[in-house]
Amino acid sequence: MDEPILDCFIIGGGPAGLTAAIYLARFHLDILVVDGGKSRASSIPCTRNHAGYPDGIAGAELLQAMRDQACKYGAKIETEFVTKLERDEHTGLFTATWGSGSATAPTVLLATGVSNRRPPMDEELHDDALARGLIRYCPICDGYEVTDKKVGVIGSDSHGVAEAVFIRTYTADVTLIAPDKAMRLKSDDNAKLKEAGIECVDGPAQAVAITGDCIVVDTAEGHYTFDSVYPALGSDTHTQLGEMVGAKLAEDGCFLCDSHQRTSVRGLYAAGDVVHGLDQISHAMGEGGVAATTIRNDLCATEPRWREPVQGLVDAEDGT
Ligand SMILES: Cc1cc2nc3c(=O)[nH]c(=O)nc-3n(C[C@H](O)[C@H](O)[C@H](O)COP(=O)(O)OP(=O)(O)OC[C@H]3O[C@@H](n4cnc5c(N)ncnc54)[C@H](O)[C@@H]3O)c2cc1C
Repeated sequence: MDEPILDCFIIGGGPAGLTAAIYLARFHLDILVVDGGKSRASSIPCTRNHAGYPDGIAGAELLQAMRDQACKYGAKIETEFVTKLERDEHTGLFTATWGSGSATAPTVLLATGVSNRRPPMDEELHDDALARGLIRYCPICDGYEVTDKKVGVIGSDSHGVAEAVFIRTYTADVTLIAPDKAMRLKSDDNAKLKEAGIECVDGPAQAVAITGDCIVVDTAEGHYTFDSVYPALGSDTHTQLGEMVGAKLAEDGCFLCDSHQRTSVRGLYAAGDVVHGLDQISHAMGEGGVAATTIRNDLCATEPRWREPVQGLVDAEDGT
């Protein structure tokens, strides 16, 4: 049996996709969220910079509240990983396919996020360290929590230097560790580290153990113990589905969007970390709201979505 054509399907159920789902459902549109269940927000033990939660909130709890809110207004959410996105050039309809099904709609929102590259370490150790704040990925989010602590940054090149220098405004004890070999830096990067008093250590680096409330990193120059380690190894942007239908990417590998979250492909929108900009919950939510409103307005511009009169009222006016 053919699936009904939806107004929109959203791929990705993190803060961007779920905010859009709440808006679109409340616009009385027929939508589906298909989510792989790997939101970066789900790995946040407790976010303390998200406005409105003075004592912080766990990422998983925030996501659950957003899912509940979207479903309350009629959004449907499936936990699946979309493997294919196609667009029919004649009808303009998109079809997404995943293991057990597919969906068709004239509009699609890609809110597929990014993945942080992890340092080489045992997976269980990584997840335990992440949950305890011994491994951290986002100094903008939680640099405050390492104020005056001993911090290691695993990274190289100007990106690693920039992260270490950023964290130096929270603590005087920052060490930059090369991930895989001896540290080789441009002279101006060396000058920045020197000016900030940041120690440099050669790799390869491997986080090997948790001792008490600290994490131990094995380097070419011996074991180092830190209160927290920030891997600064970059991230992978989940743009593959958009690329399948020809969406253009910006230089940094994120989707190129206009100020209303439209990609270069008609009917295809993007929001959140997968779009160039600040990788934060607040930003993802903001873009989700903008994208949803644009989708609603673009749909209504091609076909007005007038609501049918309520039958009881019509009967009363007719005197029937
Ligand atoms: C450890 C950590 C701590 C952080 N702390 C904070 C903080 O304190 N404050 C803050 O503001 N931000 C924080 N962030 C950043 C924040 O989590 C992200 O900015 C936010 O989650 C981005 O939302 P998003 O919806 O764009 O992407 P995500 O939340 O990553 O969601 C993307 C979703 O898309 C799904 N997806 C991808 N591809 C497919 C596919 N093909 N089919 C189906 N689904 C797919 C994924 O499974 C995922 O569920 C932190 C991040 C990390 C990793």
